[in-house]
Amino acid sequence: MTSNPAQATILDGKALAKQIEQSLSARVDAIKTKTDRTPSLATILVGDDPASATYVRMKGNACRRVGMDSIRVEMPEATTTEELLAKIDELNNNPDVHGILLQHPVPAQIDERACFDRIALNKDVDGVTCLGFGRMSMGEPAYGSCTPQGIMHLLNHYDIELAGKEAVVVGRSAILGKPMAQMLLNANCTVTICHSKTKNLADHVKRADIVVGAVGVPELIKAAWIKDGAIVVDAGFHPTDNGGVGDIELSGVENIASAYTPVPGGVGPMTINTLIRQTVEAAEKAAGIEA
Ligand code: NAP
Repeated sequence: MTSNPAQATILDGKALAKQIEQSLSARVDAIKTKTDRTPSLATILVGDDPASATYVRMKGNACRRVGMDSIRVEMPEATTTEELLAKIDELNNNPDVHGILLQHPVPAQIDERACFDRIALNKDVDGVTCLGFGRMSMGEPAYGSCTPQGIMHLLNHYDIELAGKEAVVVGRSAILGKPMAQMLLNANCTVTICHSKTKNLADHVKRADIVVGAVGVPELIKAAWIKDGAIVVDAGFHPTDNGGVGDIELSGVENIASAYTPVPGGVGPMTINTLIRQTVEAAEKAAGIEA
């Protein structure tokens, strides 16, 4: 590994999200004018996990910043799968609700997959249904899972060339690693997906023109593994006394990579922004407005 003489570009998700919010406010106004209805995201929080409650609050705040409503549904810890399915049916049938977000994780007794898949495709603005994932994978219209979709938006905004690149995604969760890999494949990358059973992780990362850390382990991916000139995308966030770290050791990466997402302020703001953007799109479709 030699160091990259040019300073890496910072992929500033915070700034981009702010910029996108301005255009979303104008689109929300246009929907209100045409329909006399305020676009609305329903958030469902089951149980009382404090981190989940914080995420739901942040999503509600983001709705308000662009002039949308958010309907907060809170259900007790002991909720059954049937009760949650019935609530999702109710929201699917409510014309005042344009998008539905079921906050993950739900309590263990609930069949989370069944509940995600009950969300109507046209309201699946968080991109969590199997049907939406399959359609996205096939290149058919569908709302993408918000974190990888936000990452794609950020890469496109910075004109990062993707076709023909070796992309290595570390992590294969349903909401992040798998859809990320599919989106990069659709963008003509050659994709490797690594996970907890992968042998020689360092060797895979060392080949990567684009590396995505989606693993949930603080700084698992070392700066020394990053190839010269690589694009480094870090989806992780782990609070520390000095702010926080991601899934990639970013210290020193600015002298190796050609571009990287900072932690915080890279991927995180793009995730919520994508949720709000996709809800606005759903409301535009319901209102017969061409995006
Ligand atoms: P997850 O469901 O826990 O999945 C973690 C993935 O990493 C799994 O596929 C796991 O492999 C793999 N893994 C774990 N240890 C590994 C190791 N030592 N070597 C290689 N792979 C390993 O996590 P997630 O929900 O995808 O989240 C991943 C990260 O993204 C977390 O840091 C999370 O906080 C962050 N995140 C951020 C946002 C955002 O808005 N910025 C949103 C969602 C998630 P197996 O499949 O083999 O178990």
